[in-house]
Amino acid sequence: MVDADQTFIIVGGGLAGAKAAETLRAEGFSGRVILICDERDHPYERPPLSKGYLLGKEERDSVFVHEPAWYAQNDIELHLGQTVDRIDRTAKTVRFGDDGTLVRYDKLLLVTGAEPRRLDIPGTDLAGVHHLRRLAHAERLKGVLHHLGQENGHLVIAGAGWIGLEVAAAAREYGAEVTVIEPHPTPLHGVLGPELGNVFAQLHHEHGVRFHFGVRLTEIIGQDGMVLAARTDDGEEHPAHDVLAAIGAAPRAALAEAAGLEIADRAHGGGIVVDERLRTSDPDIYAAGDVASFPLALFGTRLRVEHWANALNGGPAAARAMLGQDVTYDRVPYFFTDQYDLGMEYSGWAPPGAYDEVVIRGDAGKREFIAFWVKEGRVLAGMNVNVWDVTEQIQNLIRSRAQVNIEALSDPHVPLDDLVS
Ligand SMILES: Cc1cc2nc3c(=O)[nH]c(=O)nc-3n(C[C@H](O)[C@H](O)[C@H](O)COP(=O)(O)OP(=O)(O)OC[C@H]3O[C@@H](n4cnc5c(N)ncnc54)[C@H](O)[C@@H]3O)c2cc1C
Repeated sequence: MVDADQTFIIVGGGLAGAKAAETLRAEGFSGRVILICDERDHPYERPPLSKGYLLGKEERDSVFVHEPAWYAQNDIELHLGQTVDRIDRTAKTVRFGDDGTLVRYDKLLLVTGAEPRRLDIPGTDLAGVHHLRRLAHAERLKGVLHHLGQENGHLVIAGAGWIGLEVAAAAREYGAEVTVIEPHPTPLHGVLGPELGNVFAQLHHEHGVRFHFGVRLTEIIGQDGMVLAARTDDGEEHPAHDVLAAIGAAPRAALAEAAGLEIADRAHGGGIVVDERLRTSDPDIYAAGDVASFPLALFGTRLRVEHWANALNGGPAAARAMLGQDVTYDRVPYFFTDQYDLGMEYSGWAPPGAYDEVVIRGDAGKREFIAFWVKEGRVLAGMNVNVWDVTEQIQNLIRSRAQVNIEALSDPHVPLDDLVS
């Protein structure tokens, strides 16, 4: 039984960490809750950093998970701007801060998130090369896009993933020239496959984004510390005043690895291995959010999910498991994006190779449709584009593993609920 003498430590102050702290108190935990984060800002949500906040449509204050006063009001001991650099599993302590403060834990939650992958090419140290993960990055990039828009300047984006495309949309709204370099033949290739990737390619073409598929950046050319151009492996030079490296993120699992916790192999996305209760290979240590690799029985695989909803739900689930509650974390992965006037939600998991066909319900040309990724008659994933309030039905369909009639699946007049037998 949990009692007031216990200390629960949360390492990482992103959405998963803040929501875990909230849940511990909401569930009546009366012991010490210590939240340590290496960022100086209070825990905040990242999706607006490449959308509303970047576009200047959302205020800085709107991104925070809680008001700053909330932490003291809920007796959460917050240590911001402090890095945890060691976990001693025998003594059950974590060490943090410049002075190497040691605190003992009864239960520990690792929600250390992910960090942007770096381009390993000449020129990445130039002042005009950017990444986007933190609020400070977004503040800087916002200024850059504004300036590029005013000066008719060029932004080269390495990577046509979610962040690359969202920033491309924002940059076009500021009026900047945008070139996207992507080694795969379509945007979002590893998530959506070629069929639906083309919907996003078309959308961005229509808004004036130039794509170069099938090539990689090899060098960022500069002069006096400033970016002048970006070179690709086909020998072409692309004019650039700034470059955004948006080539994915890597889990921040080094702390866990150094403590001897089990780490997933790269084929499963890396990250800290947890069971369905979000418990690591040490029974007193849990992990959630972007850094955790959890088993998802529905898809018969282990997954690491770098999405907002996984932090929002995973942090609280881990907190409940730490309190000894019976938890099975088996959420259908969910993601959303907004680009120009396109809004979409994606539920499920269907990377290329996992599905046989893509079935469209609605009008793909008008970008008002639902796409379903199907394998042997079962829906693995669904993406609703400018069609709303269908996520629950799509997720029910995925969960049901029902054998669906493909014609009915593609017919907007057949209610989705009717397909779940
Ligand atoms: C620009 C951007 C846009 C996004 N847009 C979307 C979207 O539209 N839809 C969507 O579903 N998802 C989106 N995401 C993904 C979503 O934001 C992440 O999945 C979510 O932030 C993960 O939360 P987390 O708490 O697991 O990790 P994080 O938010 O990464 O938080 C982890 C925190 O731990 C800190 N930390 C790490 N190691 C240590 C240590 N040793 N000591 C102390 N502190 C440490 C980190 O600095 C960080 O503050 C976006 C992400 C980004 C970057």
